[in-house]
Amino acid sequence: MKKINSINYGHKIISSASICLIVVPVICYFLWSLTKQEQFQLFAIASLVLGFLILLFLFVLLKIELYQDKKIAEYFKANEKTRVALKNGFYECQTCGNTRIQQEQKSCIICGTKFKDWSDDDGSK
Ligand SMILES: [Zn+2]
Repeated sequence: MKKINSINYGHKIISSASICLIVVPVICYFLWSLTKQEQFQLFAIASLVLGFLILLFLFVLLKIELYQDKKIAEYFKANEKTRVALKNGFYECQTCGNTRIQQEQKSCIICGTKFKDWSDDDGSK
């Protein structure tokens, strides 16, 4: 599943909901008070319903995003004290991202993390 990042479009969803919940109903109210035509009331109600549906959609998106963030944080925490072999022969520290770790190093020279799997991955190459 694609990672949801509401920072890119959250403000657009909130703007759309605000237009449906505030701007359109206020305009409809003024038009209704001027003309006394029932359609403007119905249009205002439809706009309010649409605005609440947009807010509900945003709420569901935020719940999914928070769940995804929690899973990523758990994965990061579980692999924090490990190193990953890179194609250029070096290793990457999973705590700080240092990519200049050599095979025989037991710890990271940047952040000081002692790797728990340093002896597991050096016999294969
Ligand atoms: Zn490090």
